[in-house]
Amino acid sequence: MQLHNTLSGRKEAFVPLNPERVTMYVCGPTVYSFAHIGNARPAVVFDVLARVLRRRYPRVDYTRNITDIDDKINAAAAKEGVEIGVITRRYTDIYHEDLDALGVLRPTYEPKVTEHLAHIISMVERLIANGSAYAAQGHVLFNVTSYAGYGELSKRDRRELIAGARVEVAPYKQDAGDFVLWKPSTDEQPGWPSPWGRGRPGWHIECSAMAEALLGETIDIHGGGHDLIFPHHENERAQSTAAHDGKVFARYWLHNGFLTMDAEKMSKSLGNVKLIREILKAAPGEAVRLALLTGHYRQPLDWNDEALADARRKLDRLYGALRDAGDVAPSDATAPASFIAALEDDLNTPAALAELFELARQLNKATDADEKATLVARLRDAGNVLGLLQKTPVDWFSQPASDATDGPDDAEIEAALAARSAAKAAKNYAEADRIRDGLKARGVLIEDSKDGQRWRRL
Ligand code: AMP
Ligand code: ZN
Repeated sequence: MQLHNTLSGRKEAFVPLNPERVTMYVCGPTVYSFAHIGNARPAVVFDVLARVLRRRYPRVDYTRNITDIDDKINAAAAKEGVEIGVITRRYTDIYHEDLDALGVLRPTYEPKVTEHLAHIISMVERLIANGSAYAAQGHVLFNVTSYAGYGELSKRDRRELIAGARVEVAPYKQDAGDFVLWKPSTDEQPGWPSPWGRGRPGWHIECSAMAEALLGETIDIHGGGHDLIFPHHENERAQSTAAHDGKVFARYWLHNGFLTMDAEKMSKSLGNVKLIREILKAAPGEAVRLALLTGHYRQPLDWNDEALADARRKLDRLYGALRDAGDVAPSDATAPASFIAALEDDLNTPAALAELFELARQLNKATDADEKATLVARLRDAGNVLGLLQKTPVDWFSQPASDATDGPDDAEIEAALAARSAAKAAKNYAEADRIRDGLKARGVLIEDSKDGQRWRRL
């Protein structure tokens, strides 16, 4: 298996440290509001990676954290006049519902920062003890000059990072580039007791401590969106390496490209976000998932209505092939080697999807029952690796078409009804049903009455 490592800047053969237990850590959401479709991209991409790894290795320990201590959470809680737990529980539940709808399996571990304060404090203490960090005025800072590898991951100049941006430097910092491991809380702010007074952890140390607690000192894969390379991952790497006597922290760094909207990066600060929740009102989660997998994970991906409608049509095609195969009992054939090879080549989902369509094309042509049984089994198994095609065709086609603008117009419906009448007259009931199901999938319900066919929009 080949994976592109941000650290080396190239594809490398993936060889786990311990093939009996592959470890992966992906930075999870900060739970203070609804997640947008950009946030869904790493969740879906690394879910596929976990599925691919699980086919090859007996045990994959995948950790994706929940950041439930953060200043944005504090601000949201203060605005509503509630405890931070009210905010974080609400948005954790919503995040789970959203990802469930996208077919994202739960990670092996989903640690929360609030459950790991003792571990965070112990790590900060160790960093102070070995000279990598210092306490000053209720803060603890990581001393970037102490770590020679600082800047390697993000390919930035170490001296410039140490000197920091030309902004006013806080008086408690030795070097402008030093970053916070712990900071004091005012009486109004959430805080936890520590050797440096009541306070709260900085963001970066949270991930280092949770990765250590659940996966150990050296992990195989560390993932996230590419915006996290600097400063978040650069800082995680510095802290963890320093806390572990120079041992490698993450062996393969994987970063997904950004989702854009009309070619502009989707982000809350630009205000051009589409919430997962909103999108799920207009399209099945499986179509959203497929749309997210149509591009290679390292490339930017543009999100627009046409891409989503296209993903839905693609699933109509795939489920259509399964439906038309009829009631064949799938054989025990598995996903084709070429399909797995595409995914094992740095998670090439566009190539893997092309293999899926090729299987569907063969299935459409197949006449032999054994061949159909094999192709159905291959299609289902390959779909499963991508988290697709696990419904029955009936369930897929009976979903309401929630996007009314995408539905057929009256003339198209009348034409379809005429074709269906003709099919029935010719006793081709399978074709008549196919037309009915197809219209239903696009939001039009046909009812047969003694006066003929009637239709209405759902
Ligand atoms: P956040 O909650 O902002 O820390 O983001 C959670 C995850 O979503 C991180 O891995 C980010 O890198 C990723 N992310 C945020 N915005 C986008 C986007 N527009 N496209 C792809 N990934 C994103
Ligand atoms: Zn992180």
